[in-house]
Amino acid sequence: MGVRTQGERDRVVEFYTKNLGRIEAKVMGGRKITSKLAPHLGMGSVVEARLVFKNQFTLTDVLQKRSVIRDVLEADSEKRFIFDFLKLLYFLRKMTPIGLPDLNVWHRVEEVALRRSADLKIFLKILGHDVRLAKCDGCGGEKIRAFQFEDQVFVCGDCLNKNVFNDIVYIH
Ligand SMILES: [Zn+2]
Repeated sequence: MGVRTQGERDRVVEFYTKNLGRIEAKVMGGRKITSKLAPHLGMGSVVEARLVFKNQFTLTDVLQKRSVIRDVLEADSEKRFIFDFLKLLYFLRKMTPIGLPDLNVWHRVEEVALRRSADLKIFLKILGHDVRLAKCDGCGGEKIRAFQFEDQVFVCGDCLNKNVFNDIVYIH
């Protein structure tokens, strides 16, 4: 789902796992270009990972089964899906708690990769924010355009034009 550096040598990679939900795992020496694990860890990779837990997770082995993004690039299909998929990963990083498995989310992500269609409304609903019942937090209107992470509220297009909202994701 994402990666950040830790210290001079290591990286911390974020995964959405079937059994543990969203987790962060340290990759020892992961900043080195010669790291054996790095090629398996691109954004949107589907992997089998071996993890060791001692204060935090450390990734000891990983095998890339496929890359959702590379599959789309290689196929002659709609490239816009890559944007939608990265948006979904960002959304899930923001919205799913660390270490809380959710098989519903897991299976939906599998479905997204298979069908190459990422609809945030489905994930919002699973996580308790049904767009169909939503009203704009600014004006009470029903023409919802975006979701704001910090306050976990919906916002309509008119209010988006009038105000500056930080940290939002467009739904439509
Ligand atoms: Zn509004």
